[in-house]
Amino acid sequence: MSSAKDVENSTVPRCGFIALVGRPNVGKSTLLNHLLRQKISITSRKPQTTRHRIVGIRTTDNIQYVYVDTPGLHQDRKKALNRIMNETVDRVIRDVDLVIFMVERLAWTEDDELVLKALAKVDKPVLLVINKCDLVGEKNQILPHIDSLSKKRSFAEIIPVSALKRSNLEIFDDVVGKYLPESDFLYPRDQVTDRSSRFIAAEIIREKITRQLGDELPYQVTVEIEKFSDQEVIVHIHGLILVEKKGQKQILIGKGGERLKSIGSAARVDMEKTFNKKVMLKLWVKVKSGWADNERALRSLGYTDY
Ligand code: GDP
Ligand code: MG
Repeated sequence: MSSAKDVENSTVPRCGFIALVGRPNVGKSTLLNHLLRQKISITSRKPQTTRHRIVGIRTTDNIQYVYVDTPGLHQDRKKALNRIMNETVDRVIRDVDLVIFMVERLAWTEDDELVLKALAKVDKPVLLVINKCDLVGEKNQILPHIDSLSKKRSFAEIIPVSALKRSNLEIFDDVVGKYLPESDFLYPRDQVTDRSSRFIAAEIIREKITRQLGDELPYQVTVEIEKFSDQEVIVHIHGLILVEKKGQKQILIGKGGERLKSIGSAARVDMEKTFNKKVMLKLWVKVKSGWADNERALRSLGYTDY
């Protein structure tokens, strides 16, 4: 039963910044996509300049969730995880209102431990999310697992979810909202991202490459959008996929071009949903010899401010 005071409180707007961290493959992108993707439509507004790179904004009646980027979201390379986590914690996590630390199933790995270590310095609430609970056969093991995780540090809350099956996501949303400060909205209600359409298009292509070819190859892949021509009813997009080696080019193209075709059509479907328009997508693969061009690589991964 809600008291008059609760009702009154529930109309106070809340708005804050949220970082999502966790080792590769736990399901961070899946969660964000479900929370944000269907809502991302491209607006013509000028990018906001904030201290954070915004991944997506989700606005409900009285809560505005601003998910911010941490390099770990894009950088899926194991070797770099430690360094990145530490840098991220220092630069980004300190100024968010809430950190979500994602782990999966009943697992606790060395990489989870690294992330935990990196979070030691964080004095903001840290919410532990246990993802992929749909894959846990023995449901009665979840509670003891939660119990053992709760001893690793003080977590604001521990929430089991399945990002893929969307289970428990309403509870997740409620809990996250509770930790955001009372504040007027910082962005217009209809604003969902500060990323350029080109950037989003490149990310979608990268995601499809990852899905279809696994994690190793995509790290060495750069996607550049050479053309993004937004017409009345259709968007023409030309994507150039740059790889380091000839062999990688062959893998990406596949027998008779099948692989590239399939990457392209999966990317197109997502782009049409995201941009809410028909999309004509053309993809090319090129070998870029000696792309030790860090600036470019980092840029394509979304690190540098541009
Ligand atoms: P990230 O590296 O943390 O961003 O992880 P991704 O979001 O890319 O997910 C890695 C893999 O786990 C993908 O194949 C997802 O489909 C899968 N995945 C993510 N969430 C769930 C979940 O709740 N249940 C199951 N069964 N698979 C999931
Ligand atoms: Mg990801």
